[in-house]
Amino acid sequence: MSTESGRISIDAENILPIIKKWLYSEKEIFLRELVANAADAMHKLHKLSMLGEETRELVEFAITITCDREAKTLTVTDTGIGMTADEIRRYINQVAFSGLQDFVAKYQDKEANQQVIGHFGLGFYSSFMVAERVEIDTLSCRQNTEAVRWSCDGSINFSLSPSTRQEHGTSVILHLSAESLEMLQETTLQDILRKYCAFIKYPIRLGGKTVNDPAPLWTKSPSQLGDKDYLDFFHKLFPTSPDPLFWMHFNVDYPFVLQGILYFPRVQHELNAAQGEVKLYCNQVFVADNVKELIPEYLLLLKGALDCPDLPLNVSRSHLQHDQQVRKISQHVAKKVADRLAGMAKTAAEDFQKYWPDMHTLVKYGMLRDETFHDKLLPHVIYQTTKGEFFTLDAYLEKNQNKTDGKIVYASDVNTQAAYVQMFEHEGIDVLVANTLIDGHFMSFVEQRSSRKYSFKRIDSDITANLTKTTSKIVDPHDNKDESEKIGDLFRKSLTRPRVKVKVEKFKSADVPAMLIFDEDARRFAEMARLERQEYHSPLRNEHTLVVNQSNGAIKKMLSVAALPQKEKDVALMVNQIYDLACLQHERLPADMMKDFISRSASILERMGGGGSGLIIGG
Ligand code: ADP
Repeated sequence: MSTESGRISIDAENILPIIKKWLYSEKEIFLRELVANAADAMHKLHKLSMLGEETRELVEFAITITCDREAKTLTVTDTGIGMTADEIRRYINQVAFSGLQDFVAKYQDKEANQQVIGHFGLGFYSSFMVAERVEIDTLSCRQNTEAVRWSCDGSINFSLSPSTRQEHGTSVILHLSAESLEMLQETTLQDILRKYCAFIKYPIRLGGKTVNDPAPLWTKSPSQLGDKDYLDFFHKLFPTSPDPLFWMHFNVDYPFVLQGILYFPRVQHELNAAQGEVKLYCNQVFVADNVKELIPEYLLLLKGALDCPDLPLNVSRSHLQHDQQVRKISQHVAKKVADRLAGMAKTAAEDFQKYWPDMHTLVKYGMLRDETFHDKLLPHVIYQTTKGEFFTLDAYLEKNQNKTDGKIVYASDVNTQAAYVQMFEHEGIDVLVANTLIDGHFMSFVEQRSSRKYSFKRIDSDITANLTKTTSKIVDPHDNKDESEKIGDLFRKSLTRPRVKVKVEKFKSADVPAMLIFDEDARRFAEMARLERQEYHSPLRNEHTLVVNQSNGAIKKMLSVAALPQKEKDVALMVNQIYDLACLQHERLPADMMKDFISRSASILERMGGGGSGLIIGG
């Protein structure tokens, strides 16, 4: 053939400015596009030869990337199907730019560029992000065809001439622009390839070495893989992450094709600290991380890789959300994860319990976000008791509900609530530990969805009948009051704190003089308000109840002191001290209360045994 020149048919005068303008920040992806085209070309040739079509003698399928520092060129060579002059005219020159205007309008949003670039027929042209001139040297695999060389400087003018190429396949030669000479560095190329091309189906050679894994683990049959294979693969994907807990291998053929491996990472911390990473591939070409349209947001706390060759990635992310296929894939992934967890809870309870501390946040978060997920997993949610035993909600109720009025009793802080815990434990009531941020929301949600079949009560929200003794009323003929009424009066009269109600009970245990209780609903409401305001507001400022323990020695002593003349001051010191002690079992005192507590403690010490005006100790 003779040398030919002509104009590339596109709607725009010059593609270079367009590509540069919209895609510049992502210029490294040109390499993904060229490598993906190269892999495609070999895949096509592979298919042709499988079909028994006649071709030239085939050489090994591989992609070779070479640099020439002097000439400032970067070349991507494949041994694929190649192109004839006609095919170049059709596939390269008549760039299907009908979508160009759309592209320009929609994808000003840089984030979307990455995914979309290949889908407006821009893939090959992205090479102009780094090159001022691009050549294609190609020989079709078909017999009796001629090699051709195409060249274009990014304007709409190209030239096409004969070439001397002997091997089937294509070389794309980039004459790098001055701003992109870093692409001559092997390390730069390596980094880009590692990110986008780590699992391309055919070997990629750079500097004499193969830099990819053409058969990633997800393409293999699970029956042939062991734990070590999965762990090694995980560390290849996430070199700095600790070992995952367990994993799931997806291998779906129908009604969509989906392959991949999702790992459950250790998520000990609360949600905002947890960052999963699910890498999306399309035929082993990396597309993007964390495509939340494809898998439910809560499952993005997982880590791994999914390959969805069927995905309609030629549309924008917002379209993706409404796509039936995408929704099916998303539901499939969620269902598989729920099934896996439920299965483990049933058949490998020990593992389930062992992994629970690391995965409960993810499970609870998922249950809050997805009702199907919730319903499937609710029977398997477990809580550990203060004694370390695990209970599902049903198992807890079965064992305890007679003693707890059907409530599920939990402690949110076993240290400050130790006195309460002790009382419950003493009565043989199991106390669950629910001490993570998500538990509050989670419990409210479960209550609502179960129409309060499951109802949670924090350990300090009530003193149940089980913890107290009923006493017969013995009335003092002097004032017509029984002991508990007298105690109550003393507290009401001398307590200097506002918003405190007083109740007197005879606890089975004599240990503590008094305890605070906070109504469950009011407390939750206050906690929510607090989260919204994002500032700390002590619950001691809200309404609460002081339950005084009539069985306790200090209370009895106070009653006898009160019967003596001129002891109002002593009684007031005792009342307020007992109240503060109850507060301390609850949380740290706010500064003003702490100040009062310290100075009152000092006065009490000063008055101890201090002659006539001192507190009466002993006796
Ligand atoms: P897309 O890959 O999205 O179709 P491109 O602009 O990247 O768009 O490529 C346009 C066409 O050029 C391809 O569909 C293919 O037919 C042809 N092509 C590109 N690169 C190669 C190659 N390395 N070998 C053979 N054909 C190629």
